[in-house]
Amino acid sequence: MIGAVDIGGTKIAVGMIDESGRVRSRLESPTEPERGYASALERITAMLREAARRAECEITGIGIGSTGPLHPMTGEFGNVNFFPAWEGENPVRDLEQRFQVRVAMENDADAAALGEAGWGAGRNKSRLIYVTVGTGIGGGVLLDGRVYRGVRDSHPEIGHHLIDPSGPACVCGFHGCWESLAAGPAMVSWLQSIAPDYPYLSGLTAKRICELACQGDPLARKTVERETYYLGLGLANLVTLFSPDAIVLGGSVMKSASLFLDGIRKLVRESCKLVPFEQMEISLASLGDDSNLIGAARVWHYRFGATGGSGAQ
Ligand SMILES: [Zn+2]
Repeated sequence: MIGAVDIGGTKIAVGMIDESGRVRSRLESPTEPERGYASALERITAMLREAARRAECEITGIGIGSTGPLHPMTGEFGNVNFFPAWEGENPVRDLEQRFQVRVAMENDADAAALGEAGWGAGRNKSRLIYVTVGTGIGGGVLLDGRVYRGVRDSHPEIGHHLIDPSGPACVCGFHGCWESLAAGPAMVSWLQSIAPDYPYLSGLTAKRICELACQGDPLARKTVERETYYLGLGLANLVTLFSPDAIVLGGSVMKSASLFLDGIRKLVRESCKLVPFEQMEISLASLGDDSNLIGAARVWHYRFGATGGSGAQ
């Protein structure tokens, strides 16, 4: 049984995941990075012990998926937006010492990609791109079953490939990145910009816009149409660049995927004619709300388990 740890900007989830990728127990805590790394480590340790007790099992290994940047091979955090003070801390080494088992860590999008490839919608797809669309856009690229890594094991930032140089400012300092045009908050800010008097603006979210679109609200429908276009453009770029077997879509915005999927597929059909797009699947993540947590466990299997391709790095 693998102890899984999913470290995000707002919460840390911990669980016991069995060999079929099922969640056997689960706990979570707010990340509260301002309390310091030592506090987070204590909480993770306590939650792992409690999760093992609840699942009535021994922890045989620990997998971590975390918001990055991080160094997957050394286990160190880089300069993470949400907890810059944790830079250089090493949860892999620390949990190995505490639990006396092997520990592996990956960027959370790579972890989710591995989870979907191992136990979810991406099974048997060796060239797989996982894309998560929520407050940002992230993703993991698996080529021939292996996590694609850049120079110095860096994680490619697919959410920041450029779609429109005249587009909105992005958190990365550039303009018109995919994320700045098609992540959930982009739907809200665009609607706000075209209709400052829109009656539902207060507390508006991407989810609410999708609900309003389903109810026939014309401005919400227009926003969904625009979202479909920009999501589709980014995905079409990935199809043309990688010609993968499958793209698996997850994240909170994709809970409303039925509004976007037909339009996305149409755009891919029209714009990816130089690659065999018809052989490629665009599907939805199937591991649900725990995809990051389940993916974290898969990180351990990928690095150390028999199913992971013999110690694949
Ligand atoms: Zn950007």
